[in-house]
Amino acid sequence: MTHPFLDLAPMDASRFASIEDRVARLLSTSQDVVIMQGEALLPLEGAIRGTAGPGTTALNVITGPYGQTFGDWLRDCGATVIDLAVPFHTAVTAGQIREAFAGHPEIDFVSLVHAEAATGNTNPVAEIGEVVRAHGALFYLDAVASIGAEPVLPDAWGVDLCVIGAQKAMGGPAGVSAVSVSERAWTRMAANPRAPRRSYLSLLDWKERWIDGGRRALLHAPAQLEMEALDACVARIEAEGLETVMARHASAAAATRAGAVALGGGLEPYVHEARDAAPVATTLRTPAGVVAAEVVAKALAEDPTLPLAAGGGALAKEMIRVNHYGTGADPETVRRCLTALGAVLTESGAAVDIEGVDRVTEF
Ligand SMILES: *Cc1c(COP(=O)(O)O)cnc(C)c1O
Repeated sequence: MTHPFLDLAPMDASRFASIEDRVARLLSTSQDVVIMQGEALLPLEGAIRGTAGPGTTALNVITGPYGQTFGDWLRDCGATVIDLAVPFHTAVTAGQIREAFAGHPEIDFVSLVHAEAATGNTNPVAEIGEVVRAHGALFYLDAVASIGAEPVLPDAWGVDLCVIGAQKAMGGPAGVSAVSVSERAWTRMAANPRAPRRSYLSLLDWKERWIDGGRRALLHAPAQLEMEALDACVARIEAEGLETVMARHASAAAATRAGAVALGGGLEPYVHEARDAAPVATTLRTPAGVVAAEVVAKALAEDPTLPLAAGGGALAKEMIRVNHYGTGADPETVRRCLTALGAVLTESGAAVDIEGVDRVTEF
C-alpha cells in the first residue's frame, strides 16, 4: 500500500522551479526567488552573512526579539551596527529611519522585521523603503510573520532581501522558506569574500549553480514533503484569494483588540495604536499583579487547542499572545480565546463581561 507521506514521486528540477515561480507570484516580485531547504532562520542568517562584512555599516531596527538576533549576526560578520530599538508597544517610523541616516550617512545596510508575531507590532515598510532607497542602502526584511496577513511587496518597496516562511499566516509548513534577492544584493554578495560558499547557508551557491544554470539541476535532494506542502498552501491561498486571506487576518486582529476591551478585567491591547498592530497576532497586556504566563497556562489546561502563548522572556509576566493566524484567523477562534481568558480572569476575582466578547467578535 502506498503511504501518503512516504511514497512520493521524486521532485525534479522543473517542479521545484514551478513552486519557486508560484511563491514569486505571491510576492508580486520579478526578482529571483530562492526556496531554501530549512526553516526561515536559514535564509535570514544566510542573507546577512552573504551581504555583510567588516566594511558594512548596518542600521538594525529592533522591534522584537528577531531584531536582536540580526544585530548579533551582523556584529559576528564584522559589521559596524547601529541599533535602533523602539518600545514593543509601538512601531518604528520612517522619520526615525531618516534621522538615523542623518546621524550616520555611512549606513549601507538596513535590517527590519516587518511584523513581529512575538510582540504584535507591524512596521510601515513602504514608507521606510523610500528612505532606505533614497540613501542607496541595501534593505533586508523579515516578512515571515506578515506574508499572508498583510501586503508584502518587495519590488514596490525596494526590498533587496525579503525572507518569508509559510508557518504563520500562510498556514503552511515550517521546514522550507524563501527569499527574494535583488540584482544589487547578488552583486553585494558576489563581492563579499566572506559570503558563505559551498555551505548550507549560501545563497550564492543557489545563484551560481541553480539560477545561472537555468534551474536545471538541484544542489541536493530537496525536502520533498515540505516542498509539496508549500505548494499546497500557496494553492490554497490562491483559491481563497490573497486579499480574502489578508482580510481575515485584519478582521481577527480588530476583533481581538475590540473583544479584549469589551471583556474588561484589566486586559488591554499591548500595542497602543491599532495601525501599529500586526494582523498576524494580537498581544494583550495583563493588569498589574496578574501574571500572563499563569493565565495562559490555566486557559490551555482547559483547552490545549487554543492558539494562546505568553510573551517570551521578561514579557511572560505581562504579555499574552493570541496567534490568530492561518486557519485560526477567524471569529470563532478569537471568541474562544477571549472567552477562555475571561474565564481564568473571573476565577481570580476580576469583573469581566463575556457577552461583551460575543458582541464584538461577530464580524
Ligand atoms: C515566526 C517568525 C520567524 C520564524 O521563527 P520561528 O520561531 O521558527 O517560528 C522569523 N521571524 C519572525 C518575525 C517571526 O515572527
